[in-house]
Amino acid sequence: MGVNDLSINPSGYILGIESTAHTFSIGVADSNGYPLDSVSVAVRPLKGGIHPREAADHHAQKGAEVLQKLLKLHDLNPSDFAAVSFSQGPGLGPCLRIGASVARTISQKWRIPLLGVNHCVAHIEVGRKTCGCDDPVLLYVSGGNTQIIAKMDGRYRVLGETLDIGIGNMLDKFAREQGIPFPGGPKIEALAKEWVENNPTAKLEDYSLPYAVQGMDLAFSGVLNAACNLIKKGAPLGAVCWSIQEHTFAACIEVAERALAHTSKSELLLGGGVACNSRLREMSEIMSNERNATSFVPERKFCVDNGSMIAVLGQLHLLHEDITELSESSVLQYLRTDQTPILWA
Ligand code: AMP
Ligand code: MG
Repeated sequence: MGVNDLSINPSGYILGIESTAHTFSIGVADSNGYPLDSVSVAVRPLKGGIHPREAADHHAQKGAEVLQKLLKLHDLNPSDFAAVSFSQGPGLGPCLRIGASVARTISQKWRIPLLGVNHCVAHIEVGRKTCGCDDPVLLYVSGGNTQIIAKMDGRYRVLGETLDIGIGNMLDKFAREQGIPFPGGPKIEALAKEWVENNPTAKLEDYSLPYAVQGMDLAFSGVLNAACNLIKKGAPLGAVCWSIQEHTFAACIEVAERALAHTSKSELLLGGGVACNSRLREMSEIMSNERNATSFVPERKFCVDNGSMIAVLGQLHLLHEDITELSESSVLQYLRTDQTPILWA
């Protein structure tokens, strides 16, 4: 089915399908490209980490139900949609393939164009759309990714990133070691907050951890090992949670600050699930204020992986008639942020 065989409804909604990892989500953007609420389900393994194929099975089982719920939530019908977009990459291959299959099926059945989009770029565009910033440095902190990104020469360039695991992955693994189920980040935040409220004079030096900055890059696996060792030596869990947050968030904010300086940009945007964290939001605000920049933080529902951000980016591709032919719709597990030309700049 080529572009010319399709009737594009210019005032239609865009459907967005997200399935890069643990979350399967379908969302929607209105004809102005503004995201509405998504409907999401996530695998929460009781033991161990996420197994890509088990997560994919979960997504495949839930797909139809999630779509029905979304249409009901917004009182929409297939004829209301102009196009369907999906996360083409980066992500876990088996999970991505479920989202792509659902999107191809909808495209064929509803006779609307297919739009394969870059998941990392979607985190930026949903932030730009909902926060009203224009040309930000993005601090993208999620389960699998930690990147500092800024637009230069028509692409979003990665100025710094984790050299090993994503910051969220580090939080989840530390939590798992302590018997806290996935996702560990919110529980670590709560334990850290409670501990610091009860121990206002605590010193970070007493719970010292490696500093995660390496040039413009970051690294978290050493922090994870050191934090587990502190617990083994008898440090209170709350204190270690607090120390992990203080050390690793400061590292991310430091690299983000240097990215602002290098690029002469004045907007810092947070994205990714770890951007739900109030302490990180506070640090971002403090650093931005100190250098006359502005910190932008999307609503939490647009920080975590969600289908509506995929729809927001899909709408930008549609406006530029950058439609994905079926033959080009294979998933791109290792897609890089800077591989996607920013046509809408
Ligand atoms: P994502 O990969 O973007 O969907 O985000 C999921 C990651 O965000 C997981 O690693 C969670 O532990 C983490 N996360 C969610 N909420 C918080 C929070 N309040 N503080 C820190 N990490 C969080
Ligand atoms: Mg993400």
